[in-house]
Amino acid sequence: MVNTDQHDFGKARPHRVVILGAGYAGMSAAVQLAVRVRGREDVLVTVVNAQERFTERLRLHMSATGQSLAELSIAEMLESTSARFVPGRVAAVDADAKAVRLDDGRVLPYDTLVYGLGGVADTAAVPGADDHAYTLSSAQDADRLHDRLSRLGSGTVVVAGSGLTGIESAAEIAEQFPGLNVVLLGRTAPGAAMNPRARAYLRTALDRLSVQVRVGVDVVKVLSDTVELADGETATADVVLWTSGTRGLPLAADAGLTVDALGRIVTDSTLRSVSHPDVYAIGDAAAIRQKYGVMHGTCQGGMPTGVHAALSIVRVLRGKRPKPFRFGYYHTPVSLGRGDGVVQFTHPDDSPRRICLTGSLAAKYKETVTAAPWPTYARMAKLPAAGAFWPRGGRFTRTRKPQ
Ligand SMILES: Cc1cc2nc3c(=O)[nH]c(=O)nc-3n(C[C@H](O)[C@H](O)[C@H](O)COP(=O)(O)OP(=O)(O)OC[C@H]3O[C@@H](n4cnc5c(N)ncnc54)[C@H](O)[C@@H]3O)c2cc1C
Repeated sequence: MVNTDQHDFGKARPHRVVILGAGYAGMSAAVQLAVRVRGREDVLVTVVNAQERFTERLRLHMSATGQSLAELSIAEMLESTSARFVPGRVAAVDADAKAVRLDDGRVLPYDTLVYGLGGVADTAAVPGADDHAYTLSSAQDADRLHDRLSRLGSGTVVVAGSGLTGIESAAEIAEQFPGLNVVLLGRTAPGAAMNPRARAYLRTALDRLSVQVRVGVDVVKVLSDTVELADGETATADVVLWTSGTRGLPLAADAGLTVDALGRIVTDSTLRSVSHPDVYAIGDAAAIRQKYGVMHGTCQGGMPTGVHAALSIVRVLRGKRPKPFRFGYYHTPVSLGRGDGVVQFTHPDDSPRRICLTGSLAAKYKETVTAAPWPTYARMAKLPAAGAFWPRGGRFTRTRKPQ
């Protein structure tokens, strides 16, 4: 690997923190850390992201259905901080040599790495999904799906996976493309983890949008024009959107970092890799254990992981020990097209509370939540403490001893 860092050998080399991924978690880490070390010559923060524009992953079902999103420039957001932005695609991490290689050959050595490259739809789960199914793992994926949907006119779109991304996508496609027949296939009923009122509302809304819901089904194969189900039946599909499960990129395992069965980096209680403590893992890319179990990928949990990693790095640079990370869920907001939605309020362990919002109020709540991250980064760039508050989960995450 060729070292791209410029050194002035007369000076002590700064501590190099490289943050991979400027998604919800990576941007939180980048802004929080860069502002806190602004003006220090002994710390250099570098942020690498494949796109120059911030990908609002929460809105990818909207861009897949032709709705244009705001142009959010990562470089502009980082301008007022001390971070250096490097647009580029990470090709490999050498966790032993402590260096990141980009696909154009550039190499970025690090002293501390923050790994926030997110996750991708788990198309390896069944044969054919990788070749024939569309996904919503990136802005490019959403553009490809939009291109296909807008040329279709009529036909059937099968959304495989009845989780939150599947529900939101099926509803959005049905609303924006009323000429298409939308089928939502999944093992469990939409909103299975919600309370009965929220679940019933979801079902009624999907019926209103004429989404055909089939539950208790397992897709075992995806072909170019059908999906095969475990019971031997087939379902015709002009387009298959795969939303069933996410997994980490192979990069982490290839780097020799310890990963779980879903390819996510296994962390200790302070978000450091259990195999390589100079690597912090955040957001969807990390398998972070709380008392209630391993966190699942969300923006609500991902942003705090980024902030916590930044605060930990600052503590370690001061010679202190990083603190354990604690997080408790508080809501599950789901859009059902543009004017409708459901918000299930949750206990910190993500189990449903009795209270939920439905209809236009829920749609407004969801929009407020979806729009919140970008202004939060701007606020943090001025006042870092603004990002340092999130629900710690109380007794649901409190442990006697460090995990
Ligand atoms: C349609 C949809 C709706 C959702 N709705 C919600 C919701 O309402 N609430 C909620 O909490 N969560 C929701 N989620 C989940 C949420 O989007 C993720 O949990 C969140 O994006 C995770 O943040 P992250 O920073 O870990 O990863 P990401 O936001 O995916 O960021 C990863 C970043 O890394 C970059 N990257 C990836 N690979 C490379 C590479 N090789 N080189 C360089 N850069 C790379 C990507 O371009 C991206 O910028 C939704 C997801 C989808 C798809």
